[in-house]
Amino acid sequence: MDFVLPPPPVASVAVAGDSRRFAVRRIFCVGRNYAEHAREMGHDPNAEPPFFFTKPADALVESGATIPYPPATADLHHEAELVVALGAGGSFVPEDGAEALIWGYAAGNDLTRRDVQAEAKAARRPWDMAKGFDRSAVVGALRPASLGRPEGRIRCSVAGRLTQAALLSDMIWPVPAIISHLSRLVELAPGDLVFTGTPAGVGPIARGETCTVEIDGLPPAVVTVG
Ligand code: MN
Repeated sequence: MDFVLPPPPVASVAVAGDSRRFAVRRIFCVGRNYAEHAREMGHDPNAEPPFFFTKPADALVESGATIPYPPATADLHHEAELVVALGAGGSFVPEDGAEALIWGYAAGNDLTRRDVQAEAKAARRPWDMAKGFDRSAVVGALRPASLGRPEGRIRCSVAGRLTQAALLSDMIWPVPAIISHLSRLVELAPGDLVFTGTPAGVGPIARGETCTVEIDGLPPAVVTVG
């Protein structure tokens, strides 16, 4: 096939212990998936089914990168999240079949322009520019699902201060339920990433600070804001 311009590069993330990379198709994100975070954002965690938003695949940031402070915000926030990478797709996937779609897991940081998001919420406008901006999706190296499902703690620190600490089991919607719900909205495909929501304790990253997301058993997702 001939193109009038060279095709864009394929977005990808590193795979732990492997020189090959995981090619990324789309990035989906779950909103409000930990009860304490839903409450800190002013919502009743029991009242709503999961909802989703997206980031462009080329918003990916490799762990260890330094990124510029994003434009159009004075309140860049971290959101520590478990990221699921799909190796197979499907529509209307039952919960008990969802785990078979998972290729691997990673630690991630759903960087958010919190002030832009607050304006969007107040004006009932979309979240795209609050969530899907350039370099907004930090993802650590993937660990294959064949090595086991991550369990235990998820934590975030900014400049060495612990800001978020929870258990993955605190999720309102566990990973299979998220995949099943999402597959009723879109046809999932290999290469899709799903950010599975953040626990309480979201907060700012200032210029010059390093933010580290750690999940038991997974490589960390580290970003420095220049
Ligand atoms: Mn999030």
